[in-house]
Amino acid sequence: MTEVVIAHLFPRRMNIYGDTGNVIALSRRLEWRSIPHRVDLVPVGSDYDLLNADVVVAGGGEDSSQIEVARDVLARSENLHAAVDAGVAFLVVCGTYQLFGLRFIATDGSELPGIGVFDAETLSGEGRLIGNVIVESDFGRLVGFENHGGRTMLAAGQAALGKVVKGNGNNDTTDEEGAVTNNCFGTYLHGSVLPKNPQFADELLIRGMARRHGAVSLEPLDDRAEMAAADSAAGRP
Ligand code: GLN
Repeated sequence: MTEVVIAHLFPRRMNIYGDTGNVIALSRRLEWRSIPHRVDLVPVGSDYDLLNADVVVAGGGEDSSQIEVARDVLARSENLHAAVDAGVAFLVVCGTYQLFGLRFIATDGSELPGIGVFDAETLSGEGRLIGNVIVESDFGRLVGFENHGGRTMLAAGQAALGKVVKGNGNNDTTDEEGAVTNNCFGTYLHGSVLPKNPQFADELLIRGMARRHGAVSLEPLDDRAEMAAADSAAGRP
């Protein structure tokens, strides 16, 4: 099999609450199955073509980091849309998720335009939404940790990643969490999310690999440690 490529977008600027763990989880799950792969780092300002990747991962960051990243996301808009349309799998967490919507209004009132992969907008609200989150999704239970001031509202017709069972997710007024467009998943779940939700990690790999590697069936792994971590996080207040 040709090498599977994971692109890590904004590895330094957007990487809080362990988000780099998502890249490690994807790469370990490939390594454990002896599937050749590499991780390409894509910092702000690089001219990397995301159509070279099978899975693209980006994390969260403070409002202040988002200003520089928002400019870069806009500059890459055409390439990002082309990759989403082509079926590249994306996991964009919190701060990057907000920039994949139509716009983000930061706590200081400044507006950061997004690229509209998701028909959604985010407004900073009073107080932060912090804590452990449990979500029911098409990929089963997802467990993660949230810490954000932005409230994201999905437009009618925009698919969510799932329904919140515990915590807040997109906002404190609806039970929606995250957004899905093609194989692009936006979420507020940090933690990091993929190590504790291995079925979601494998879903990203299967969807992302389909474009260049054909239909793949991934050999099952022993996920007892991962599930124990998820159960422990789900049981916490
Ligand atoms: N700055 C954003 C907010 O607080 C994103 C935070 C994050 O990525 N955790 O809403």
